[in-house]
Amino acid sequence: MFHRIFLLLVASLLALASHAQTNADSIAKILRNHIFRLSSQGMMGRGYVGNGQKKAAEYISCHFTNLGLTSVTAFTDMQQYYSFPVNTFPSKMNVTINGKQLLPGQDYLVDAASAPYNYRKSIAVKDLSSVSTTHQWRHTKATLSDTCIWLLLHTDSMCLNTGIPSHQLPSLLPSGCYIIPQKNKLMWTIADHTNAATVVYIADTSLPALTTAASVDISAKLNKKYTASNIVACIRGSLPDSFIVFSAHYDHLGKMGSNTFFPGASDNASGTAMLLYLAQYYAAHPQRYTMVFIAFSGEEAGLLGSAHFVQNPLFPLANIKMLCNLDIMGDATDGVTVVNATMHPKEYELLTSLNNQHHFLPTIKSRGKAANSDHYYFSEAGVPAFFLYSNGGKGYYHDIYDKPEAVTLQNIPGVANLLISFATEIQK
Ligand SMILES: [Zn+2]
Repeated sequence: MFHRIFLLLVASLLALASHAQTNADSIAKILRNHIFRLSSQGMMGRGYVGNGQKKAAEYISCHFTNLGLTSVTAFTDMQQYYSFPVNTFPSKMNVTINGKQLLPGQDYLVDAASAPYNYRKSIAVKDLSSVSTTHQWRHTKATLSDTCIWLLLHTDSMCLNTGIPSHQLPSLLPSGCYIIPQKNKLMWTIADHTNAATVVYIADTSLPALTTAASVDISAKLNKKYTASNIVACIRGSLPDSFIVFSAHYDHLGKMGSNTFFPGASDNASGTAMLLYLAQYYAAHPQRYTMVFIAFSGEEAGLLGSAHFVQNPLFPLANIKMLCNLDIMGDATDGVTVVNATMHPKEYELLTSLNNQHHFLPTIKSRGKAANSDHYYFSEAGVPAFFLYSNGGKGYYHDIYDKPEAVTLQNIPGVANLLISFATEIQK
C-alpha cells in the first residue's frame, strides 16, 4: 500500500515537472518568435532611420489589438505620440585608415552627436596627456585646425585631470574630424543634437601603429522633430480603477549608416517580448485589477517616452498599485536584479518568498533607486515601481552583436511565471 502511494506520488511529481517544462518551453517559443521579429533587419534596430521604430510600434499595437486589448481611454487610440530631436546617420558611413576600409560597428563607431564629414586628409597626432588644466585645454583646442584629421591620444587622462567628463569632450571640439582610440568595448548611443565636430571612436586593435592618412565620409542629419509613440493598452478588470502596469521599452539605437544596424535583441526586444507574452496571458486570464501594458519609445534617447507619459498620464498615476518595468530579459542564468527593491521592502519580500516557494529563478538580487530605465519617472512621481533585469549572457550591449541568436532565454520563462504569481498576490 505504502509502495503504491509512493509510486503515485513520484508519478504525480514527474507529471508536475513535465508540465512545468512544457509550460516553460511554450513560453520560450512565444518569446523567441517576438525577439526574432523585433530584432530583424526589417525593423532596422527600431531606431530613427527608415521607419524602424514605427514598424516595431505597428507590430506591437497589432499584437495588442489581435489579443483583444483596448486603449486605456475612450478618447484615444493605443498610441500616445510626442516628439523630440535626434541626430541620425541615414546613409554614408565610410572610414579608411592608410587606405584600408574599416568595418562600422566592429572597428569603429561614430560619436552619436557627430556632424557630417567628407574628406580625405593626412592624420596629425595630438597627445593630450600633458593637458591638465582647463586653461591648457583652451590653448590646445585653438591649435586643432581642420587642415588634417586629428588622432587624439590620452583623452581619458586629460578628462580626468581637467574634470571635463569624457562624454562631453566631443561637444567641446572645434569643427573638424577627430579619431579617438578605444581600449574598451565599443558601445553606441543616441544624441538629440549635432556637434560642430565629427568624432570617430576606433578600437585600439583596429588602428595601425603608424597612421598616416584617413578618409572619412559620414552623412549625418539632425531630425529636429522625430515623432515617436508609446503604445498603451489594457485588459479591464472587475475592479477597473485599480491598475497593475507592465512596461518595456521597444526602441533601440537603429542604424549607423545604410548597412549597419543595432539589433537590440537583449536590449530590449527581450523585455518587449515578455510584455507581449504577459498581454497574451492576461487576455486569456482577466484579473480583478485592470492590467495595463505600456511599450515605451525614446528610452535610449534618455527615458523620453516614460517621462512624457508621467507628465501626460492617460489615467491617474495614483491608481497604479504596482508597476513592473522589464528591460534586458534575455538570459537569467544568474536570476534577476530588482531596482527599487529597497524602496518597497514589503513587495520585494513578497517577490522573494514566491520565488523561494516555487523556485522560478536561482536568485533574486536587491538594488536601490536608479535612473536607468523607464520605471524611474514613475517612482519619482510616487508610483510603486520595480525594474527587473536579468543577469546572464555574453554581455552584448549597445553593439552590433546584440542579436537574437545570442539570446538564450535561460530561466526567462521563470521570470514570466514569477511576475504572474506576484501580480496575483498583489490583487489579494
Ligand atoms: Zn534598454
